[in-house]
Amino acid sequence: MRILVTGGAGFIGSHLCERLLNEGNEVICLDNFFTGRKANVAHLLDDKSFELVRHDVTEPIMFEVDQIYNLACPASPVHYQYNPVKTVKTNVMGTLNMLGLAKRVRARILQASTSEVYGDPHVHPQTEDYWGNVNPIGLRSCYDEGKRVAETLMMDYHRQSGVDTRIVRIFNTYGTRMLENDGRVVSNFIVQALRGEELTIYGDGSQTRSFCYVSDLVEGFIRLMNAVDGDVHLPVNMGNPGEFTMNELAEQVGMATGKEIRIKYLDLPQDDPKQRKPNIDRARALLNWEPTIPLAEGLIKTAEYFRNEIEVK
Ligand code: NAD
Ligand code: UDP
Repeated sequence: MRILVTGGAGFIGSHLCERLLNEGNEVICLDNFFTGRKANVAHLLDDKSFELVRHDVTEPIMFEVDQIYNLACPASPVHYQYNPVKTVKTNVMGTLNMLGLAKRVRARILQASTSEVYGDPHVHPQTEDYWGNVNPIGLRSCYDEGKRVAETLMMDYHRQSGVDTRIVRIFNTYGTRMLENDGRVVSNFIVQALRGEELTIYGDGSQTRSFCYVSDLVEGFIRLMNAVDGDVHLPVNMGNPGEFTMNELAEQVGMATGKEIRIKYLDLPQDDPKQRKPNIDRARALLNWEPTIPLAEGLIKTAEYFRNEIEVK
């Protein structure tokens, strides 16, 4: 198959491109390199089945493809809040452009949505039928509401025009190829620990998150994209149900890096969700999918990666 991956030079996208190529597909990786980088896909450039295209999804583009994975969008709060209007445009106009393309060339399309559609959730763990608790005017809204509109567009193109759509609600995912300055908690803690710096915990560290290793997520993406039986058009949560406070995560990072941990407590950012944990019953039933890599193991792999990344500087 010929497959388009938008945001393909980013953290998750680069792992997805690699996996799709390994399975014998042709892959077009489209990226504007805002938070992605050529280095993430440099090892794929010699593959004759791989093409790298610099393009912004807010502008229309035309390719003959069979499948589209729409991942283009900065994922870290630091980066998506840098230019919030652009974040909305990427989610709304970018998704519209990719849906228009899918409709025109009859490609199946998968949207990378997010657990952020649940906002600061009142239902715990989060199930797909929960509508969420999102502040429409806060600092995270450009991302949260942008992704919610993207989901709306996916469902409306499906209902109105019969486009073959898939939606994954991704919970916090981590692994190799995250940027050193990504700003998300796992990369921050690992980089700080390796450098012997204090770990920056926002708030009192009692807020929880559930962390999924990237290869588990990519497996889920491919299963959902290729699934045909059941309610495949409705959103599917993907994440690791293991739930940790940020204080517990700091301890785990200490063990994975073999470093003694010192902590600095900083202010909690606005609208920071207090708890988050996926209910993945739907993914289990629909795709026979669940994560296989526990946090301790994934942190060791990620720490190994950053140890090399930081050393080469
Ligand atoms: P990332 O920032 O590493 O990757 C995003 C990629 O999209 C980058 O390569 C970036 O350059 C590219 N991009 C951004 N705006 C673009 C635009 N307008 N046109 C073309 N390319 C653009 O982040 P990631 O963690 O790999 O996230 C990938 C997708 O998964 C995103 O849509 C994100 O919202 C979603 N997601 C990720 C997580 C997570 O924990 N990693 C959680 C929920 C959702
Ligand atoms: N966080 C933290 N220290 C950091 C970065 C993040 O304590 O250096 C916290 C953040 O406040 C949030 C959690 O870790 O409660 C996860 O943050 P991240 O930005 O990784 O993802 P998101 O908030 O989007 O789930």
